[in-house]
This record gives sequence, C-alpha cells and structure tokens, in this order.
Amino acid sequence: MQAEPSLKVKIGLEVHCQLTALKTKLFCSCSSDYRSSEPNEKVCPVCFGLPGTLPVLNAKAVEYAAMIALALDCKVAPRSLFYRKNYFYPDLPKGFQISQYDKAGGVAIASGGAVEVEGKRVRITRIQLEEDPGKLTYEGTIDKSSYSLVDYNRAGIALVEIVTEPDIEDAKEAKAFLEKLRSTIESLGVSNGELDGAMRCDANISLAGGARVEVKNISSFKEVEKALNYEILRQRTFSGNATSETRHWDERRSITIALRSKEEEQDYRYFPEPDLRPIVLGAEAVARVRSQMPEVADAKASRYAKEFGLSAQLAKELAANKALSSYFEECARLGKGYQEMAGLIVGEMSGGGSVPAPEFVGLVDMVETGSITRAQAKEALREALRGGRRVGDVVKAKGFSAVADEKAIASLVERVVASSPEEALRARADKKTFNYLVGKVLREEPKAQPSVVAKLLARRIAEKKT
Ligand SMILES: [Zn+2]
Repeated sequence: MQAEPSLKVKIGLEVHCQLTALKTKLFCSCSSDYRSSEPNEKVCPVCFGLPGTLPVLNAKAVEYAAMIALALDCKVAPRSLFYRKNYFYPDLPKGFQISQYDKAGGVAIASGGAVEVEGKRVRITRIQLEEDPGKLTYEGTIDKSSYSLVDYNRAGIALVEIVTEPDIEDAKEAKAFLEKLRSTIESLGVSNGELDGAMRCDANISLAGGARVEVKNISSFKEVEKALNYEILRQRTFSGNATSETRHWDERRSITIALRSKEEEQDYRYFPEPDLRPIVLGAEAVARVRSQMPEVADAKASRYAKEFGLSAQLAKELAANKALSSYFEECARLGKGYQEMAGLIVGEMSGGGSVPAPEFVGLVDMVETGSITRAQAKEALREALRGGRRVGDVVKAKGFSAVADEKAIASLVERVVASSPEEALRARADKKTFNYLVGKVLREEPKAQPSVVAKLLARRIAEKKT
C-alpha cells in the first residue's frame, strides 16, 4: 500500500499530571505516596466509594490546579463542578471517576490559555481536576494477557488533566510542547515529572478528512514521539481513511494496537457529582494563588535577559532547569560576568554536579579579567567536577594563564592575515570567515585570549592594506 505523505496531520493532547506535591489523595486522607507501598495498601472506604462514605475535597489540590491554570494563561472559572464519568473497568473501584465536564451545564476549573512552543501557540482547551484510576498490570501484552493485576493505591490520586486544541502538527512539535509544559509545571513545585507515571499522555491524531484516532496509555513523554510517528505512518498507509477508534500504545513492541471502537460521550452518562459542592474561586482567591506562585520558567527567562543581559537562548536554557537557575542566582549575587557565568553553568553543569559558588565565581572572574581563557576555565571546571578538586587548584596545577599581551597577539594576527589574504578580505563583511580566522590564531597559540584576538583582528582587517 502506498503511503500518502501530503495529508495534513492534526494532533491534540490530553496530558494527565499527578499533583505529586500533595501528601494525600484528592478526596480522602489516604497517603498519596503509593510508589513505595505494597499493592492495595493505601486504600480506604472512600477510595472504593463504599455506601455511607463521602468524598472530601483536598483544598491544596484546588490551589495547585489553579496555579497550573494561571501559569498556562488560562481563565480560572469562578465556579466549577465535579461530574461523575461512569464506565466499567477493573481499574475503577467505584464504577465511576469523579472528574469535571465542560458540556451540558458542566464547567471545568479553567479554560483558554496557550503554551508557546518554538514561536507557535498551542491553545489549551481546558484544565480539569479529577481522580486517577487504579493501576493495571498485564501478563505479557494487553491484547494477549490472560489476566491483569490491579493496584488501587493509585485510585484517587489527584490529577490535573490538560487538554489542547488540535494545534500540533507533528511528533517533534508534540515533544517540544510536552517538555515546555513539564518545565512550567515543575517550576511551580506542584508535580515532579521525574516520578514514574507522574505525567502521562493520550493523543488524538487525525489526517485531514480522516477519522480521529485516540492513542492511550503513553506512559512517559519519551514514548510520545515514537507513538505519534508510528500512528501517523499507520494512518498515512490508509490515505487518511482510518476508523475512529481507541488504540493502545504498546511500549515493548513500539506499535499501537486496536482496543475498541471509540466511546461516544453519551456512553459515559456524565452527571453532576451529588456528594461534592462546586469549587468556588473568586477574584480574591485567584489573586491569593497568584501571589503564592513561584516564578515560572518563561517569566524567569525574560527576567534573566533583562536583569543580567543574558542572550535569549541562554536565558531560556538556564530558566528551564530549576537546579541550574538557582545556582546561577546564587553566583550572580557573588560576582559579575553574567553571560560567561550562565554559559559555563549551562554548558558544564547540565549533567548535574557543581562546585561551591564562590569558587566558581572566582573562575568566571579569571576569564572576565583575561587571566585565563574560556577553554581553560572549562577544562578546570571539568577536572574539578570529576575529581573533587578545587577549581583554583586545578588552574594553578595546570599552569593555566592566558596570553593577553597585545604585541604578541598582534604579530600572530599579522601572520594569519598574511597567510590567508582572501579570507582576510572576506572577513570584513562575513562573520563566519572572521570567526574562522580567530580560530586560526587560537590554533597557533591556544593560550591567546579570544577577546583580544578578535579585537586586534577586527582592527587589522579594517585597515586598507592586506
Ligand atoms: Zn482513601
């Protein structure tokens, strides 16, 4: 069968994010730390919806959901409702999930908003607060398994579901969106995406004119790109004539498999949850939540660009990593040379590990004042990170020093210009050739201070003679 490459792809995501910072579940006082427990240990009559029990809403969960909504530029509903989503499945002890609904009079906790990904806006349809179902474990694969094991410890864990419009056009874009979403949510401190299963994703995929296929059970963001690429290719081979259905992402075999024809909304028999009152979040409450919110990655990045003069790209990379950005702020209080500082932090410490801030600031200062080169600073830093030595000691032991003597460097520049006259001419207008020549000088004398080389080279090629 011939694949049809021209059909436009539309992807919408439903991201389920556990509020892992909560101590208890969404509607009862069971511990939310289910990962370190034996199966079915963290459960109570409320988790099972036994007769006579009543759910009690976790107020902190509402606050956290509102934080996520505000961070994604959504509008928080002044009054939202819980609904029962009825369906029969072994992971659902009550026979229904307490969720939210945005139709037939239902209102989700927030709607609207967008996430900006590589210059494009991915619109958020709505955000809702709901409980996680239990966890099913299959023997072998889901379609061939002769039994499944169920652990209800996860049943009732607070989830925030984030639903996007079908604005995403390929798997790469989906991955970038999810990474951005994750770093935003993590910077709020309400969820730790590192924990297994803390952020999961379902995807709706359709090719222009074709049916919408839902792929469920994508258990980590790493798998999303693979699952989407597989599904897009599968649908292309049908030239967009896929059937509307729910498919399961099989991680082990890296394929999607048909589970069932897609449920229609009426199949869920949504109705308002009679045991819970509406969530009321007036302007004052929203203002209070806003005032308690930590700075999210985007805001932090623009502050870094403004306050410290960092380049946009560097500010973005730094702000996206919580550990690195707080280390940077600590260093920025102790010294100067922010761009150099940020560059070394992002470049050398992204894999974890750091040196004491005063030592690092001292190293940056050596680069800034021209006593060592950036390349030497990197080497010293790597050595210190590896061997637990002090950075300053490495610099001394290796005899690092930069040649900043203008006379010595000027004669090197002269030699390079003489040996490459054509490049020297071109370098007047061409940055790339200019950098090539700087590199050539540095190869002759690796200890030469690059900033001095650049200054003298610029002066030399501006002269008329070549
Ligand atoms: Zn419970």
